[in-house]
Amino acid sequence: MDEDSCMVDVAKFFLDFTRDESCGKCTPCRTGIPEMKQILTKITKGEGTIEDIPLLEELGKMVTAASLCGLGQTSANPVLSTLRHFREEYEAHIIDKKCRLRSARQCSRLLASIPVR
Ligand code: SF4
Repeated sequence: MDEDSCMVDVAKFFLDFTRDESCGKCTPCRTGIPEMKQILTKITKGEGTIEDIPLLEELGKMVTAASLCGLGQTSANPVLSTLRHFREEYEAHIIDKKCRLRSARQCSRLLASIPVR
């Protein structure tokens, strides 16, 4: 991961890992992680809406607070952290339908844009 990484795609990558590792015992982790992943996939395809941002934050906080073990309790960190520090990248995907790194695997349908840093 470096300055050329799409942070929305990075968050999605980490959710893939925690979704695969989730044992499924508790509902917040079992259903919250796939739901966040689905929203991120929608955003990287250029189909996101501005309402997805507060929804992701709400879901992330719920999964963090209500999951039984450390895997679930930390699973939303990449989402919440990238939203906190790279919100403009989310907004570029949703509003401008642009990814500053068009070559990102899941953002290939979006237009490239000037870096938003
Ligand atoms: S938070 Fe832990 S116990 Fe709950 S489903 Fe995830 S991995 Fe299993």
